[in-house]
Amino acid sequence: MSKWPIGVFASVDAGLGVHLDVAKELDIPSVQVHAPHQETRTEQAAKDFLARCSDAGITITAVFGGFEGESYESIEITAKTVGLVPEDTQAARAQEMKEISDFAKLLGCDTVALHIGFVPEDRESAAYKQLIDVTRDLLDHVAANGQQLNLETGQESADHLLEFINDVERDNLFINFDPANMILYGTGDPIEALKKVGKYVRSVHCKDATWAAENRGTDWGAEVPLGDGDVGMETYLRTLNDLGYTGPLTIEREIAHDRERQKADIGQAVTLLTDLREKIG
Ligand code: MG
Repeated sequence: MSKWPIGVFASVDAGLGVHLDVAKELDIPSVQVHAPHQETRTEQAAKDFLARCSDAGITITAVFGGFEGESYESIEITAKTVGLVPEDTQAARAQEMKEISDFAKLLGCDTVALHIGFVPEDRESAAYKQLIDVTRDLLDHVAANGQQLNLETGQESADHLLEFINDVERDNLFINFDPANMILYGTGDPIEALKKVGKYVRSVHCKDATWAAENRGTDWGAEVPLGDGDVGMETYLRTLNDLGYTGPLTIEREIAHDRERQKADIGQAVTLLTDLREKIG
């Protein structure tokens, strides 16, 4: 692929992404997909989806894991319910993520990704050490499928994410950088964070947000159309360029309750990114 192909976060049958036909209508050449439900992670479903992508000229660049019971209702509830961190569901979800890796292999995709959850702050705690073990075991499975795992950013500071990646000690653990999440979760300036973690960034989201008016880190910021928020898209792309990032620019617009507006906002984002790519890339 050429430098910075536009992408969009899409869904097969689960998650908040756009449907594939929207990517097709907007002539977007790459997608990250939210993994489908367990009963549709079959060889036949993979073949059918691949055929639809091929027909539309779309490349699948990553498969994102997501799990039943996750809720992004508030930052506090997100911390309790999302990813591999919550202990009640940890073993089952780690197993399911291995199955998602197997499904991604059926799709011919070398990258799986996920929100791992809020990595415990205390590196000496039992919870942190257990998360390291679970992640290593998952990464070994992912490596056997010839894949890497990219962690979505936002729930930790850049420094703590780096500590975690170093502590895991596996060479197929990388980052899917989402600048808006740093703002939504109040975990740090997105451009400074990107510079810190840059060497691990293997995929990115193009998403925008405004900071919480008060109580950053406790109250959500607000997701807004690309270019309308506090990320600064030109600075974001210039920083990616400085880091030597040439991969897809995957637009994420998570307003699945309003499909018309979602499509319109994604169309505008394509225009913005195409113009900036022309200017910078
Ligand atoms: Mg994201």
